[in-house]
Amino acid sequence: MVQRLAASGIQSQAVLSAMGGVERHLFVDSALVNQAYEDTSLPIGLQQTISKPSVVARMIELLEGAECARAPGGLGRVLEIGTGCGYQAAVLGRVAREVYSIERLRGLHEKARNNLRPLRLRNVHLLFGDGMQGYAQGAPYAGIIAAAGGDAVPQAWLDQLAVGGRLVAPMVRNAGQQVLLVIDKTLHGFTESVLEAVHFVPLKSGIA
Ligand code: SAH
Repeated sequence: MVQRLAASGIQSQAVLSAMGGVERHLFVDSALVNQAYEDTSLPIGLQQTISKPSVVARMIELLEGAECARAPGGLGRVLEIGTGCGYQAAVLGRVAREVYSIERLRGLHEKARNNLRPLRLRNVHLLFGDGMQGYAQGAPYAGIIAAAGGDAVPQAWLDQLAVGGRLVAPMVRNAGQQVLLVIDKTLHGFTESVLEAVHFVPLKSGIA
């Protein structure tokens, strides 16, 4: 899987080694383990999916491009919206100093807890709640990464981003097409780049 990621253009050694260090088969149902290292999203219950490895690697590599990640110590605090089964949170835990990951579905929050417990990642904090509000207690964040796509960027995310920080999120843009959005917060305001088309589950408000 890691060789395929490198061949497909992922250049960050930190990301490649983090992807190699987290066993994806531990995050999917036993009936799907033989597909765990294919570049495909897979069902994790409650109509949600574990993201494709290539998309996880791509988004984390983009996050590492944040201005403040270039300082000594690298990527500091990161907020993930949409823990799902906890896979991406585990990968993030290997590249960022501190990870806060929030999930709105209690069943998946519990599943992620169970999946991550044996890995003993002391810097990964799982939260149950509506990620559209962000998580002010952990702010400001060097990086915010969303695993679900909405129609607009919640103001809370922009507020909770550090100056020099970067947001990477799928967002519905023109003609209902979901695209990957990168927003950098600078001293002078926000800069936005629209990248490739993506397919994420919808960002929803409230908890369930
Ligand atoms: N990060 C996961 C992907 C999970 S799929 C992985 O490693 O594969 C996206 C998740 O976002 C779903 O579990 C969904 O319930 C969750 N989600 C959607 N809207 C949300 C919100 N407002 N707050 C928190 N989680 C949300």
